[in-house]
Amino acid sequence: MPNRKKFIGANWKMNAAPVGWDASDSPYFSMSNIDVVVFPTSIDLRMCTQKKLSVGAQYGRPETAGAFTGDIAMQEIRAVGCTHVLCGHSERRQHHEESDEMISKQVISALQCGLIPLLCIGENADQREMGETKEVLAQQLLAVSNVEGMIVAYEPVWAIGTGKTPTAPEANETHAFIRSLLKDKNTRILYGGSMNSANAAEFLAQPEIDGGLIGGASLKPEEFRKIVDVARAS
Ligand code: PEP
Repeated sequence: MPNRKKFIGANWKMNAAPVGWDASDSPYFSMSNIDVVVFPTSIDLRMCTQKKLSVGAQYGRPETAGAFTGDIAMQEIRAVGCTHVLCGHSERRQHHEESDEMISKQVISALQCGLIPLLCIGENADQREMGETKEVLAQQLLAVSNVEGMIVAYEPVWAIGTGKTPTAPEANETHAFIRSLLKDKNTRILYGGSMNSANAAEFLAQPEIDGGLIGGASLKPEEFRKIVDVARAS
């Protein structure tokens, strides 16, 4: 059995931290046997690190400073106590036209700054329908397949926020394909896309699935707690 610690990420996107996020029994705290990491808005990063949550940013820019209005640098993210950063979330690829080249620079820069990059990859609905999933994933990984120390999240774009998902065995097979492309075979590969308390057990029971990146369901503390409990038990 591979020794890859389970990881559950809460991607709060452009939403306020859920009520009770910092209560002593909040489900958003990391535990010894599982990594729980929250990804709040940039403005809430410091608030969350000050309360001792494990925290990641949703985006970081590789340059250390300069004329990049609205952006934040990887260095600053590290300086406020974050440990992780999302790179290439599909919403950034879509709304900010981030290319694979830009995203691979983010991954390298994050590592240089002492952050763990969480690289998000995934095919869209058309690509899936055309049978291009593997080609798309290979392209998205190409520039960083030799990188050690990152986490990968397989997030089919058509599954994000839609309530649709691949079957758990389908996702497992895709994860195995992703792993085959990576130099570091111990890289944790998370599944993301409409994961919730009803389907988490099936996904997390798959041998190639090392955790989840949770969007919508992470904004509901009790729903999120159930997912974390499933991950701890799997
Ligand atoms: C995400 O945005 O990374 C995500 C997985 O969202 P959701 O869980 O809402 O599909």
